[in-house]
Amino acid sequence: MQKTLRLRWRLAGLVILFAAFAAIPCGAQAVAGDSLVFIHANLIDGISNAPTMDATVVVVNGHIQSVGHDPAPAGRGPVIDLTGHWLLPGFVDAHVHVYDLASAKRALRSGATTIGEAGINHFADIGMRELNHKGVVDVPDVVAAGYHIRTHPADDYFIDFPQDADLMAGVHGAEAVRRMVREMAGRGVNRIKVMATERAGTPETDPRIRVLSDEELSAIVDEASKSGLWVVAHAHGDEGAAAAVRAGVHAIEHGTYLSDATLRLMKEKGVYLDPTITALVDMSDPEGEYDNPILQIRGKAMLPTGREMTAKAWKMGIKIVAGTDTSYFDKNNRTMADEIIELSDAGLGPMDAIKAATSVSAEELGVDKRTGSIRASYEADFVVIERSPLENIRHIGDVVMVVNNGRIALNRLNVAPHP
Ligand SMILES: [Zn+2]
Repeated sequence: MQKTLRLRWRLAGLVILFAAFAAIPCGAQAVAGDSLVFIHANLIDGISNAPTMDATVVVVNGHIQSVGHDPAPAGRGPVIDLTGHWLLPGFVDAHVHVYDLASAKRALRSGATTIGEAGINHFADIGMRELNHKGVVDVPDVVAAGYHIRTHPADDYFIDFPQDADLMAGVHGAEAVRRMVREMAGRGVNRIKVMATERAGTPETDPRIRVLSDEELSAIVDEASKSGLWVVAHAHGDEGAAAAVRAGVHAIEHGTYLSDATLRLMKEKGVYLDPTITALVDMSDPEGEYDNPILQIRGKAMLPTGREMTAKAWKMGIKIVAGTDTSYFDKNNRTMADEIIELSDAGLGPMDAIKAATSVSAEELGVDKRTGSIRASYEADFVVIERSPLENIRHIGDVVMVVNNGRIALNRLNVAPHP
């Protein structure tokens, strides 16, 4: 009898809470008051090797106040019942080229609560980062890089830096690259992105070809460190990648043709690998972002190599992070789910692929003291997945809720109150 009564009260309470919750729209005004409570969550915290079942997570003022098994605390809410659902850290996409707010919003709604920009024009990344910090628009937190440091900067670079017009003929020599790094640091970027090989995504370039000298790469790393910045290197070909690793970069982006020797050196130096496999899948897809038959052939050739290299790197114990290398522009449907599935298939398995996309990516981006895992005091950056991603990693794409700094950015939860 007592049990029935308690169940009834609980049911009544949940109905009221759900009625309150259902009335809350998505977006900036999503949170009534300053708290949110998640109950009965299957929690993957981004750090632990096993999930915590039936967890309660309390969010106050955009941050996680507690994670545990306690019942929902009184006076906090709305309460969101996640029975049967999976609560994960928001995805940390280590490699994007997001250049406008609409794309940034799409990135967030796909589950990426933090993005690492890897080369973008006109410092759109810095602007978006500031808007996120002000809390005025629902966009991911941004780790900004500004323009790529490369031998031939984007035309737009010279619109922002007409004083560097002499570099239009090419950026050659230690002094020239140092100048570019100083320009980036002066604008307030968080990291430096350098092109150590040519691009894969343009038909006229050859991704195996190295482009900067040892001296130039070392100068870039040295100049960046003077401003407290680290360097990530785009490199497909082994020669350019090895040179970048020797010069002291923090991460290799892509790394398609990495040799065993370079992988060993990366392991020794603790260099991260961001294989961006889904970008190769996209390149080989006639419907993909790279609308060019030469690139489709190239993508098909590079994809098995990239997958094999990633599997090998993982076996060698290299720190692998997840990046999409996408712009989240409308034609492009790649998301972090695609890369997580690729990493899982490359041998990481579901749990380590999720960590690669959350806590390890956060570490690579230097934001692991505040996001990338679900623990007390951290930012309330979450995704909710409908079915177990541990049982089948392909469930990871079914993101039904996104919470960004404690604000609900996406809500497709369709759960009924239960006794
Ligand atoms: Zn890229």
